[in-house]
Amino acid sequence: MTRSSARRRVPASVLPARQASASAVRSFAIAWAAALAGTSYVPMSGAEVADLLDRLAGELVNALRAETFDPKAGYDAGTELVNAHFTTPASLHRCVHIIGERLLPELGVEPTPWFLDRIAELQGALAAGYSQALRVRTLREQEAIRGAVLDARDEAEAALRASEAKFRAMFADAAIGIGISDLTGRIIDVNAALVRMMSASREQLVDSNVRDYVHPSDVSDGLWASYGRVLRGELDHYQIEKRLRRPDGGWAWANLTVSLVRDDIGAPLYLVSMMEDVTDRHDLQETLRYQATHDPLTGLSNRALFTERLAEVFDPDSTVGPADRRVGLCYLDLDGFKVINDSLGHDVGDRLLVAVAARLAESVAGEHRLIARMGGDEFVVLVDETTGPNDVIAVAESILATLVPPVHIDGHELAVAASIGVVERPVAGTTAADFMRDADITQYWAKADGRGHWAVYDSERNAYEVARFALAAAMPAAMEREEFYVDYQPLVRLGDERTVGVEALVRWQHPVFGRLGPDRFIELAEETGLIVALGKWVLRTACAQAKRWLDEFGDDAPYISVNLAVRQSREPDLVAEVCKALEDTGLPARLLQLEVTESAIMSTLDAPLEALRTLDAMGVRIAIDDFGTGYSNLAYLRHLPVKELKIAGSFVEGLQASDREDPVDAQIVATLVTLAHALGLTVTAEGVETPAQAERLRRIGCDSGQGWLFARPGKPENIARILSES
Ligand code: C2E
Ligand code: MG
Ligand code: MG
Repeated sequence: MTRSSARRRVPASVLPARQASASAVRSFAIAWAAALAGTSYVPMSGAEVADLLDRLAGELVNALRAETFDPKAGYDAGTELVNAHFTTPASLHRCVHIIGERLLPELGVEPTPWFLDRIAELQGALAAGYSQALRVRTLREQEAIRGAVLDARDEAEAALRASEAKFRAMFADAAIGIGISDLTGRIIDVNAALVRMMSASREQLVDSNVRDYVHPSDVSDGLWASYGRVLRGELDHYQIEKRLRRPDGGWAWANLTVSLVRDDIGAPLYLVSMMEDVTDRHDLQETLRYQATHDPLTGLSNRALFTERLAEVFDPDSTVGPADRRVGLCYLDLDGFKVINDSLGHDVGDRLLVAVAARLAESVAGEHRLIARMGGDEFVVLVDETTGPNDVIAVAESILATLVPPVHIDGHELAVAASIGVVERPVAGTTAADFMRDADITQYWAKADGRGHWAVYDSERNAYEVARFALAAAMPAAMEREEFYVDYQPLVRLGDERTVGVEALVRWQHPVFGRLGPDRFIELAEETGLIVALGKWVLRTACAQAKRWLDEFGDDAPYISVNLAVRQSREPDLVAEVCKALEDTGLPARLLQLEVTESAIMSTLDAPLEALRTLDAMGVRIAIDDFGTGYSNLAYLRHLPVKELKIAGSFVEGLQASDREDPVDAQIVATLVTLAHALGLTVTAEGVETPAQAERLRRIGCDSGQGWLFARPGKPENIARILSES
């Protein structure tokens, strides 16, 4: 069967009833809808689909029954189905199938070859219409997409052009400097702000390398490391405050942000450096920092900067310097500055400080050295990375040398000197605080040594002084706890070896250190002033003891010789104290001797001398202790209320059997004895240890001796025994 045969006219008798019932068409449409369900996504309701198929089915039926068959209804139906979004092969297949299977039975028509021929024609036409419509539709959709793509591309290009323009405008007009470099650092482009900032021309900058602008001392910092990290993509960008060398030789400070620009596939392309010119802010900060860290008078670093630097040196996490880094310090204090300041005025004082600072700066400035004014007339020189104390001693000596020429101010010729404490040690194992404390102590030692001296810190000396301090602090309580006691040593008349006097020598029975001799604590007691109370106690104790011997031995009782400290000799109530001791104990004044040192008696002060005269007038004997060790003016002795000279043991040491004798010592002792006798004084030699010394002293004419040869200092019972034995 061919289509042409289907189009042939047929006899009317063959045709079924002209009007197929609407219900039959309807029920076919329902079956058709069911067959199509789910084959395509159709944006229509079920009812709309049913209406469409009902209409199409009606037209197909009409075509089927028409006298003159035209398959166009099939073609149109195919088109309409596609237009209604039935677009899948499954939809087409179901349509063709249901028309072939159900249309004729539904209409109640015999499937004669004639009808089957028409059915087949309709099926083919529907398929053709469906396909054609689908093609048109696909083409249209492709066209739409391509159009959209074109539109999109146009828009993107426009946007790119816009952003490029925006970038250009930003780049050119930006207030911050922008430079674009390639990955080797070669500068490709710079903007006007950068040109201004670098005080250069665009030509000077382009094609140069960013490395040309880095400060030499910044090269070692993290700049290049960060640069490399940006290049490797480990960092998006980094920011740093940097100084840049301008082609004119000046420096610009920039707050620099470097970021990486990549191409489409992510490969590094350029580095963009954005620089905010912070030179002014930086200069201001520098000025403020300078003011905060420098002494306005001398221009030297101030204490704050010194402290900061010292903390850096002693920072345990510091990586600066060698692992066995050592550091030294000269701590200097001008000698006699206060006098100049007070007498010549602060203006002269200030100018002197300026002059000293200038000399310091000139003589010791250098790498690894910081000179600072700590305040007043105190300066320090911090010497970093030393190799030993000698490095710092050399600095101290050059400071002392530079201060030797006098300073001329306002017609005054001012001699300047300084006392310098020197400390030097490894940084490890110590702290800035310890270092400064020791420097301070050492500076005091230097001061104590006299004008223009340096002293080096000595840990043993320090330990000794710390112990001394502890001892001094413990003394008042020791007095209360009666830890002090007095030993007695005979003063023996050389002619007959009789004990004519007894020296009272104080001792301290210390609970921890045991028995301490007076050399360990008398000086301390003088410094703290406790000697006054201690001396008073010794005086009373000794007088009381002497009174007991008087009671026991009557005329044979010895006088008691009590040491008087310089400080005691200057006490205004010395006379009153002595009187009271004698009164309270009942000891006659003639049995008391007071030993004073040369320095006490040679003092220019009149008051102590007056006191001694009064005591002398009362009958108390005054002796000069350790004679020969001081600087007595012998001629002056005759004006003093002195009854006895005690020759220091050091002279007696030289007196031996004639063959081993030191002729000078022998001569001195002989001269002293002769002179003393000429002045009407008696002489006692101290430190007599051998019979030869005693014999020699006797021949020289010395009156008495004191020493281990006769007896060591000891308990009062010792003296009583000696007295009763003689
Ligand atoms: P000093 O007044 O010259 O006392 C004599 C010192 O010589 C005593 O030392 C005594 O023990 C020591 N000595 C005695 N015989 C010999 C000897 O043969 N050889 C040697 N090498 N030494 C001998 P000490 O007891 O250590 O007293 C030292 C100094 O302390 C005294 O020297 C005196 O200046 C001072 N001193 C002692 N007691 C007192 C006191 O109560 N008040 C004051 N202000 N000073 C005192
Ligand atoms: Mg003495
Ligand atoms: Mg003495």
